[in-house]
Amino acid sequence: MIALFGGTFNPVHNGHVALAREVCQTYGLNSVEFVPSFVSVHRAQPRVSPDDRRRMIELAIRDYPELFVNDCELRRDTPSYTVDTLTETRRQHPDDSICWLLGVDAFNGFNSWKQPHEILRLANLIVCLRPGVDMHAHEFGRHFLQPGESLSAFTAGRIAVFAMQPNPCSSTWIRQQLKAGQPVDECLPAPVIDFIQNR
Ligand code: ATP
Repeated sequence: MIALFGGTFNPVHNGHVALAREVCQTYGLNSVEFVPSFVSVHRAQPRVSPDDRRRMIELAIRDYPELFVNDCELRRDTPSYTVDTLTETRRQHPDDSICWLLGVDAFNGFNSWKQPHEILRLANLIVCLRPGVDMHAHEFGRHFLQPGESLSAFTAGRIAVFAMQPNPCSSTWIRQQLKAGQPVDECLPAPVIDFIQNR
């Protein structure tokens, strides 16, 4: 089973790391790959460079051998559409179960992503719950994993909801705290704080 975790990661935070580690443990995965976006199509472009966002992920995950950075979207140098990333991944792994990890806030906007039905043809989704965010009802209900089904049995097409240990961290909160000169240690790993302070 291949697990990819896409995001802007501006910056990566403890909530991201916890999500990836918990999914890894719960689903018995060997690895989870963080996929930083080059140009986010769902939101304003971050001011921090793609290389710096990648470097911060490397620092945040360095103690966890099961976590990796996959820089395919950075290498593409074009707007980062998940469907393109998954098309490339599917080409490399024609027979494997591929899972795309995302938080429930991102999933609530999934029907506005490019080719969401094609995404579900290429991969499963693991939707991680996030404090204070409810899941909206939408047209993908028939894809939800049914009781008794195991995600690993599906190469694509299933949506699993994962009730991770609630983690309140968000990149927005961190950016606001940093701007105000306030502490961020509860959400940012120390090496990432050092990196930001030395920029
Ligand atoms: P921002 O505050 O700028 O929106 P973010 O904290 O949501 O950023 P992203 O890089 O946008 O960070 O997140 C990447 C993915 O991780 C998204 O699918 C998002 O829903 C999910 N995610 C981020 N933080 C959490 C969290 N604390 N718990 C669960 N999922 C999360």
